[in-house]
Amino acid sequence: MSNSIETKCLHAGYNPGNGEPRQVPIYQSTTWKYSTSDDMGRLFDLEASGYFYTRLQNPTNDYVAAKLCALEGGAAGMLTSSGQAANFFAVFNICEAGDHFIASSSIYGGTYNLFGVTMAKMGIECTFVDQELPYEELCKYIKPNTKCIFGETITNPTCSVLDFEKFARLAHEHGVPLIVDNTFATPVNCRPFEFGADIVTHSTTKYIDGHASSVGGAIIDSGNFDWMAHAEKFPGLTTPDESYHGITYATKFGKGAYITKATAQLMRDFGCIQSPQNAYYIQLGLESLAVRMERHCKNALKVAEYLQNNDKIAWVKYPGLKSDSHYNLAQKYLPKGTCGVLCFGVKGGRDASIKFMDSLELATIATHVADCKTLLLHPASHTHRQLSDEQLREAGIAPDLIRFSVGLEDADDIIADIEQALAKI
Ligand SMILES: *Cc1c(COP(=O)(O)O)cnc(C)c1O
Repeated sequence: MSNSIETKCLHAGYNPGNGEPRQVPIYQSTTWKYSTSDDMGRLFDLEASGYFYTRLQNPTNDYVAAKLCALEGGAAGMLTSSGQAANFFAVFNICEAGDHFIASSSIYGGTYNLFGVTMAKMGIECTFVDQELPYEELCKYIKPNTKCIFGETITNPTCSVLDFEKFARLAHEHGVPLIVDNTFATPVNCRPFEFGADIVTHSTTKYIDGHASSVGGAIIDSGNFDWMAHAEKFPGLTTPDESYHGITYATKFGKGAYITKATAQLMRDFGCIQSPQNAYYIQLGLESLAVRMERHCKNALKVAEYLQNNDKIAWVKYPGLKSDSHYNLAQKYLPKGTCGVLCFGVKGGRDASIKFMDSLELATIATHVADCKTLLLHPASHTHRQLSDEQLREAGIAPDLIRFSVGLEDADDIIADIEQALAKI
């Protein structure tokens, strides 16, 4: 389909036939019926495609995954129960005990903990790097057992923009894929495959759902990474899977190999499935995503400009501001706008920041971000409180940083709320 992204948000992934439901139906069934033992057996052998048990596949989930895949311009996609599950599966699908991978140190706190603590217990080592380092410096972190590079299009919460060209080169010159978490940008504002990323992940919990209704995740594969060309690095894809009757994913499934393996092995064994009901909510969110992102960006720019000119504000970080250090990268990779999230510090440090947050009336303190309603939180005392001061500094998070997620309200109302709260400091 060569339609624009706005049209795909509404129509991609599900194409009802004559007399079929206009909206994606919810297949609220764990299981499917077959007439013969052989019909069912062929599904288990991955010799025929079809549904048998929702832990592995469900039509509602598949329609929504297909829409996301079309939006990203990928070859195959899958939904997961959360963004955490998506990032875990994305890496674990190609890394095992004894392997190493590289991630930007500026990523979401939950992902930082997953990679740095929990996956370390599984024998997988992650090196966190400063994503602003020059290419030659980054190369020094590559090891013979490095299996992938990971970053976020726009980092949560620090709002830095990933230099795709530099990171795609780092990955590809060392024979490994680049995995990008595209949660904040959404495929409406950035399609990482166009800039060399190989695999994209999402927390659909954020803008894609958009209404704080359901936790979810997704993985989309571009199908562009040539596993067989680096066969020795990725035996899980390039040698027979004994747990699946000796299938070799890369030769049997081509561009679908990575997602088929993640479904057949990881979903089978870990079971982090999306519920069809929640997939339906994600689908509703996707229909209006393009319209919402445009408004989020417009509102956030207005709020960022207001904050920048306010003498009670110590600093503002929003890559849509011309003065921002990531403005040029944002123009290059996200010309339509970045997202509604920005961050700033209030003069007077931690105490003033807390007084400010407690005085807001419209914007609410919530452990959430990228929602239709304006929300904020203070990473040092909320999402990142498990990190040491040194880790906080490494992740570029100042103690006074307030993550402010601009919603779809009237921008002037949001600004008036900020103004009355600042007046109370
Ligand atoms: C929220 C978030 C996640 C985790 O997603 P959940 O759906 O909460 O599990 C991962 N990456 C980014 C960038 C996020 O903002």
